[in-house]
Amino acid sequence: MTGCGKKKKKTRGDHFKLRFRKNFQALLEEQNLSSSEGPNYLTACAPPSSFPQRHFCSVCGFPSNYCCVSCGARYCCVKCLGTHQETRCLKWTV
Ligand SMILES: [Zn+2]
Ligand SMILES: [Zn+2]
Repeated sequence: MTGCGKKKKKTRGDHFKLRFRKNFQALLEEQNLSSSEGPNYLTACAPPSSFPQRHFCSVCGFPSNYCCVSCGARYCCVKCLGTHQETRCLKWTV
């Protein structure tokens, strides 16, 4: 039986592969253990933003610096204030 010899050789190769894979897996586990000690993407997570909450114009959506004296709604310019007062200012609905 000549095929028997070939088969034997193949199994030896598989055995070597299996051993190599096992070592490689152990190497990966070692790396995971060492990386968990140092800073990783979880510990380096950015803290909650310390910036003050931004306000946006209730009419056009641009960042606003003013608010309606009647209802407190935000607006960015006189034009938007006029639109707000004409269409959606609470002083008209109350
Ligand atoms: Zn606006
Ligand atoms: Zn208003």
